[in-house]
Amino acid sequence: MASFPPRNMRGNAWSMSLPIFESADDVRAFVATQRRAGQRIGFVPTMGNLHAGHYSLIERARECANCVIASVFVNPTQFGPGEDFACYPRTPEDDARGLAGHGCDALFLPEVEEIYPGGTDSGTRIDVGVLGSILEGASRPGHFNGVATVVATLFNIVRPQVAVFGCKDYQQLLVIRRLVRDLAFPVAIEAVPTRRETDGLAMSSRNRYLDADQRQRAASIFAILQWMGERGRAGVAVTDIEQQAAARLREAGLDPDYAVLRRGADLAPLSDTADADAVALIAARAGVTRLIDNLPLTGC
Ligand code: AMP
Repeated sequence: MASFPPRNMRGNAWSMSLPIFESADDVRAFVATQRRAGQRIGFVPTMGNLHAGHYSLIERARECANCVIASVFVNPTQFGPGEDFACYPRTPEDDARGLAGHGCDALFLPEVEEIYPGGTDSGTRIDVGVLGSILEGASRPGHFNGVATVVATLFNIVRPQVAVFGCKDYQQLLVIRRLVRDLAFPVAIEAVPTRRETDGLAMSSRNRYLDADQRQRAASIFAILQWMGERGRAGVAVTDIEQQAAARLREAGLDPDYAVLRRGADLAPLSDTADADAVALIAARAGVTRLIDNLPLTGC
């Protein structure tokens, strides 16, 4: 077990006491002790470079459980060739400090070999089916199979009673709920609304790739989602809303991948007009940076 920061560093009580585990066996031993003591385990899986959005998940986990474990693991199997796996921002020391300050009880910080003992190319994989092949899955083939595989592995290591995910990754949240249902994981899934910057941009580790001009343009994603929601509630035809939303994204200097209104439960296409369960979803590039965001018409 490693501990951060070093014991001789000044810090508050949390930062002095956050255990960091690099091996699955150490996490299992920690969880077993907590469970014997009657603690309910809450779990927040992340890829690190943590921001206020991630910390709101930790805070939600604290409300649902009395022992909160976070993981920081940049999962290679959910990145496609040419994506940003190698340069994804890795800031484990800041993450550990932030987690400690937000009431996390332990951090699981594994290496790739710990999570993929069979290798990342040849090991067992979970196939999430059609839900994993539309929208984000169409742009990023295999992405959700990689997400589901790593989440299943982490659930088996941490054995949480509750796990917390962000609505920011709406399709991912649906994939995880389905994974838990279909493979009968004994874990409750909690969803937390998207935390935003003051201009509406969804907080994301990838926002740091944006230059000042792109950062300004990126704020229009949320404005356009709100516009889609308003038009949807007003009964405007879905195809018209989608076409105009894509045009607005282009006018704002963004390159839309998709701008759609879908059924919230399963992301199926809507007939003519949006129903109450609809969600607006956008993926668009600002320069080379691909940003995603969504707005459920009736809240996440
Ligand atoms: P990531 O580190 O990007 O894999 O995200 C880890 C978890 O944090 C996922 O459940 C995300 O949906 C969630 N998350 C990321 N950004 C936000 C945000 N701005 N607000 C709320 N949750 C978020």
